Amino acid sequence: MKILVINAGSSSLKYQLIDMETERAEAKGGCERIGLEGSFLKHKANGKEVLIEEDMPNHQVAVKLVLEALVDKEHGAISSMKEIDAVGHRVVHSGEDFNCSVLITPEVLETIASNTELAPLHQPANITGINACRAIMPDTPMVAVFDTAFHSTMPDYAYMYGVPYEAYKNYKIRRYGFHGSSHLFVSEEAAKYLGKSKSELKIVTCHLGNGSSISAVNGGKCVDTSMGFTPLAGVPMGTRSGDVDPAIVEFLETKTGMNTAEVISYLNKKSGMAGISGVSSDFRDLSAAMEQGNDRARLALDMFAYATKKYVGAYAAAMGGIDCLVFTAGIGENDGYIREKVTDGLGFLGIAIDKAENKIRKGGIHDITANGGKVKVLVIPTNEELVIARDTARLSK
Ligand code: AMP
Repeated sequence: MKILVINAGSSSLKYQLIDMETERAEAKGGCERIGLEGSFLKHKANGKEVLIEEDMPNHQVAVKLVLEALVDKEHGAISSMKEIDAVGHRVVHSGEDFNCSVLITPEVLETIASNTELAPLHQPANITGINACRAIMPDTPMVAVFDTAFHSTMPDYAYMYGVPYEAYKNYKIRRYGFHGSSHLFVSEEAAKYLGKSKSELKIVTCHLGNGSSISAVNGGKCVDTSMGFTPLAGVPMGTRSGDVDPAIVEFLETKTGMNTAEVISYLNKKSGMAGISGVSSDFRDLSAAMEQGNDRARLALDMFAYATKKYVGAYAAAMGGIDCLVFTAGIGENDGYIREKVTDGLGFLGIAIDKAENKIRKGGIHDITANGGKVKVLVIPTNEELVIARDTARLSK
């Protein structure tokens, strides 16, 4: 069985063709600058990489080019489009309407569209990607896999905000959480690695990338997560502020003359590591700058590690203990300095890492637990596409 996984952004479309027998990507790539001048498709299959520069006025044209690349005699991975058994779509927001992945029907699509105001930057692009695929492959089953679904098991006292109950009832204001497929994947991988049933494990998963979120996974179920109503909440990120006192919004408006939308954009795009350091949102640049004595780069990294550490402690408290701590995504998988700073001083929880092992970069699951460490500390490469492909295969059979 072959599944095409689609992750559509406003001007981009990433894809992977996954063979479910091997669970490996046979082809992958992405279209960029859709609807803009200079659009291109980067496609990888059979060890070859090609750059296809073509006009892509919309997502439908992009999907057509992706399918052409997949069946191409030179650099394709399949001989005909009919070999694609189903398409799995990453959809950012399920609202409270879905707590798991679903087969896409016209009614499902309508419900997804009704949640657009909860993710105005992402949801329209996801819907455009689904419609583009349906137009070209009308008979192929399609499945929506939601970023929020894994977090739907949070108890009410964890997902509610301290605002009047009517704001929740009338406007769906609550914590939703994001990166769900990643938190699910790495928590399941951790259980497999430890040779234990997920039902007996208390795991804190740290998805630390351009966007970062931390989750408490108790018995295989998410019980809390650091992102909130939107992906702006939680720890400070590449360009996002993370949690701030909400009164800052009006204060900034008064001081700077920005309107509300401009302040929210300032918090989303100009803040976090980039805004604090004045150097970059990329942790590689921040580390290099810190090594050269840049104190604001040092401050940004310290703030990130401190905020992450606080969530680890909070979630150990929320679950009444912790058996395993997982680091994943671009920073979690690659940045030993951050892993060391996050875990430093957590010996009272039984968390200790082997500092020499932590400096080594390995592929696959990497156990960096110190000798005698009570809590397993694991670096696990995430694979959100595989989660999407697995759900798609299951629901489209
Ligand atoms: P992601 O969103 O998971 O793709 O993560 C992207 C981020 O991971 C980048 O912006 C970098 O900050 C970080 N990153 C990637 N590679 C490294 C590395 N080798 N060392 C430190 N940080 C890295």
